[in-house]
Amino acid sequence: SLAKGLLEVRRLKARYGPIEVLHGLALSVDKGQLVSLVGANGAGKTTLLRVLSGVHPASEGTVMFGGQDISRVSSHARVSLGICQAPEGRQVFGPMSVEDNLLLGAYRRRNAQLSERMEQVYLLFPVLKEKRRLLAGTLSGGQQQMLAIGRAPMGEPQLLLLDEPSLGLAPLFVAEILQVIDRLREQGMTILLVEQNARAALAMADFGYVVETGRIVKSGSGRELLGSDDVRRAYLGM
Ligand code: ATP
Repeated sequence: SLAKGLLEVRRLKARYGPIEVLHGLALSVDKGQLVSLVGANGAGKTTLLRVLSGVHPASEGTVMFGGQDISRVSSHARVSLGICQAPEGRQVFGPMSVEDNLLLGAYRRRNAQLSERMEQVYLLFPVLKEKRRLLAGTLSGGQQQMLAIGRAPMGEPQLLLLDEPSLGLAPLFVAEILQVIDRLREQGMTILLVEQNARAALAMADFGYVVETGRIVKSGSGRELLGSDDVRRAYLGM
C-alpha cells in the first residue's frame, strides 16, 4: 500500500438522505500526531468523525487505516482495530462508579497493565481519583466530561477521535481538558480533534485542516494556519 499515514481519507463523500454534506474530502493523520479540524458549525466535522468511527456510512471514497481499507468495516470492528471515539459531551454511566466507568473503557484490555493505565488517567485527572468511588452521576458536568475523555485512553486506542471535548464547559475546565489532550499527545497517542476553540486547537496541533461546507479548504501545520490571514479572519476573530 502507498498509504503513509496511520489514517488516510480519500475523496470521501457522505450524505443524509438526498443531501450530500461531505463532498470528496481528503486528509491524513500520521502516527503520533495531533491533527485538528476547524470550521464553522455545519461544515461537516461531526459527520466526518461519524464516518471514520463507522456509525455513519460513506457514500463514496476510501478510509485507509494502518494500510488497510476499512471503508466497509463495521463500527464495532473499527473499535477492535483501535479506533476510539470519545463520546460527545457527558456520556458517562451515571449509576456506576467513576472507577467502573474507566474500566469500561478498557474492555479490550484485560491484563496486568490495567491498574497502571488507571493510575495514568488519574495523573491526568486527579479529581477523578479523589472521586473514584462515587457514582459518576454525582459528578459536576465538567467532571463527567473529564471522565468521558479519561475513559478513552484506557483502551489504548491507536487513533482517538475527539468531537468538541470542551463543548459547554466553563473556561477553567476548557483549559484543563485541552491540557490533557496535549499530554495524551505527548504520551504518543494519535488524535484527531474537532474543537470550536480554534486558536487553542491549532496552537497545539501538529497539523490542521480547515473544513468549509463539506470540503477541506486549507491545511498546514498548526502554526501556519494560525498565521494565515484567512484563518485569522474567519475563525480567530481577528
Ligand atoms: P457542528 O459544529 O454544528 O456540529 P459540524 O461541522 O460538525 O457542525 P455536521 O454536524 O457534520 O457539521 O453537519 C454537516 C451538515 O449535515 C449540516 O448541514 C447539518 O445540518 C447536516 N446534518 C447533520 N446531521 C444531520 C442529520 N442527522 N440529518 C440531516 N442532516 C444532518
